[in-house]
Amino acid sequence: MKRELISVIVPCYNEAEALPYFFEELDKVVASMPDYDFEAIYVNDGSRDDTLSIARERARIDSKTRYVSFSRNFGKEAAMLAGLRSAKGDYAVIMDADLQDPPSLLPQMMSLLKEKGVDSVGTRRGNRKGEPPIRSFFANCFYKIINKISKVKFVPAARDYRLMSRRMLDAVLSMSEYNRFSKGIFEWVGFKTEWISYSNIERVAGTTKWSFWGLFRYSLDCILAFSTAPLHISSFVGVGMCGVSIIGALAILIRKLVSSASAVSGWASITCMILFVGGIQLFCIGVLGQYLAKTYLETKNRPDYIVAETEDDITRE
Ligand code: UDP
Ligand code: MG
Repeated sequence: MKRELISVIVPCYNEAEALPYFFEELDKVVASMPDYDFEAIYVNDGSRDDTLSIARERARIDSKTRYVSFSRNFGKEAAMLAGLRSAKGDYAVIMDADLQDPPSLLPQMMSLLKEKGVDSVGTRRGNRKGEPPIRSFFANCFYKIINKISKVKFVPAARDYRLMSRRMLDAVLSMSEYNRFSKGIFEWVGFKTEWISYSNIERVAGTTKWSFWGLFRYSLDCILAFSTAPLHISSFVGVGMCGVSIIGALAILIRKLVSSASAVSGWASITCMILFVGGIQLFCIGVLGQYLAKTYLETKNRPDYIVAETEDDITRE
């Protein structure tokens, strides 16, 4: 029987400190799964440290190691896409270089996939230990909101660490959108997924690449990519405001008819109303603009990333 190949995809941005630990862990996993062939694809997402030379050196001495190096930093989504595109395996698994996605879970994920006959095994954090409470709070709010307004269901605390079959991988690659949000794409393509929980592990070396605002922007991108609810909400707000103004106009008319009081008083409240309505209008135009901007980027049809170098550019030992 043909041996099955597992492609391990590792997005790396300034991971020079973590990579040696990762190699060690991955080697242990490969040794513990003798029935499978492996290829490891390191995607260097425009790192400014020695990540590229470490990956290159590893590829030079190990024929199972491949790498893709971008011309600049394109973000983790682009790095994951590049890895998935170049994967040749019957299965593909994405894991972070910092060992926060423990490679040692892979044998368990693989046997779960086979046992249950599913196309994908995802992982989620059982807790958010070691994370700033404010970040956990906003993360929880984000999952509540997105699951209310999007048809695609997002599993809270799901990680990008996921094993998938070739047919699911091909489905993911068939989605050609530019604004990628993988957690949503994995759910959108369907297929049965089993979940494994594990407790949060702190990164082995280096620092997180996410700032609070970076995550905030990422969640807004996700909402824009997987829901049009903000557009509907702004239309409803617009209709609601019209309703309120008609009621107000009627009230003024009736007061005019039944009493002879002068209408000069009350300018302050009118000013507030004008400002409020103006604010709502600008907000709704802003929401519209966000979608328009995304559409603009999609129509430009720019590549998701630019590859500067791969393992084909070096001579192996
Ligand atoms: N990463 C990447 N490009 C980026 C940011 C991050 O390829 O622009 C990689 C990073 O090297 C790591 C993974 O994505 O392997 C997760 O990043 P990080 O550990 O900083 O995120 P966190 O675990 O804190 O959410
Ligand atoms: Mg991490």
